[in-house]
Amino acid sequence: MPDSGADFGPDFGFGLYLHWPFCTRICPYCDFNVYAAKARDTEPLIAAMIADLDAHRRRLPDHPGLDSVFFGGGTPSLLSDRQMAQILDKVNDAFGIKPDAEITLEANPNDVVAATPSNWAAAGINRVSIGVQSLQSQALAFLGRDHDSAAARQAIADVQAVLDNHSVDLIYALPGQSPDGWARELREVIALGAPHLSLYELTIEERTAFGKRAARGDLVPLEDDDQADLYEVTQSICDEAGLPAYEVSNHARAPEYESRHNHIYWASGDWIGIGPGAHGRLTIDGHRFATEAARRPADYQSSPIPTETKLSRTDTAREFLAMALRPVSGLDLERFERLFGASAPATVLSDLISNGFATIEAEKLKLTATGRLVADYIAAQLTPHA
Ligand code: SF4
Repeated sequence: MPDSGADFGPDFGFGLYLHWPFCTRICPYCDFNVYAAKARDTEPLIAAMIADLDAHRRRLPDHPGLDSVFFGGGTPSLLSDRQMAQILDKVNDAFGIKPDAEITLEANPNDVVAATPSNWAAAGINRVSIGVQSLQSQALAFLGRDHDSAAARQAIADVQAVLDNHSVDLIYALPGQSPDGWARELREVIALGAPHLSLYELTIEERTAFGKRAARGDLVPLEDDDQADLYEVTQSICDEAGLPAYEVSNHARAPEYESRHNHIYWASGDWIGIGPGAHGRLTIDGHRFATEAARRPADYQSSPIPTETKLSRTDTAREFLAMALRPVSGLDLERFERLFGASAPATVLSDLISNGFATIEAEKLKLTATGRLVADYIAAQLTPHA
């Protein structure tokens, strides 16, 4: 436990998430707060973000320097390297960025190929997460992506020429995808050498274009059992290749390549959310606050200060539980007891262990690969009833 004795807050990591809401094309499966890029003057949005940042600093006068900055979206690789450097300068002026902080940029392959990743590195980026999604042009076309297989491969090579610390994102469990087909593609990606992979199953959200196609019967999602088979294939191939899961969807060759930013979320650290629709979690005077910024860029530009909601102790504990079950490092049962004011239900724990969903080591509840597949269900089971 950190020195302060707190069970959440900046002792567990302090990060900043910046949401850049524009994309050159809106993908049919995307449920994020995104808008078509078009030809826009983006300077007013950056000015609003800086005002938002300064307001956060006034709200958090005693918070320490940042362990992590994450440019997410949307497509933050549409920012110029000058804009990235300008934002990072302002962030550093406001909060201080620790010398060893992780500074991640999510990048679209086309932007990697068109830009020069060395300019990103010069602007301060030290980790790039490449939205490859697939190495197959046909799958990329189905996903509505604006890059093809050649751009995906080129982007990985271009990033690797500049930065060791990088990640490749893939989407699997596409309609009709077979375990053999996925296994071939995953092995091919692993052979390209990225030290970190984020592997997400395609989820069909109701309000997306895919959701509407599914409602009409024009798109048939993979059955749950077939998805589970692909998940098993994923775990065994990544284990064999030395890229074990360190969280439900994330795999790393060594601990130094694990996403420090995501660890802040899983550990119930604090993070500032900057940009349209961004969410944050802040600890002030021992209380946990959820922040949320206006979703539409125009609304955010006219009023960049987020709304702030004080979370109850129970909501804080529930969030802690849901997040702490995800990484393989496991859920600290003593912290659970302090936050909920009750220990984890013994019968649920023994059922989880006897059914192969979890183990307990050194007061940490660690989900197995099968358990991680149903982490949300397990969180609901473990929640003490009022
Ligand atoms: S590029 Fe990413 S954020 Fe943008 S629409 Fe596609 S999936 Fe969503």
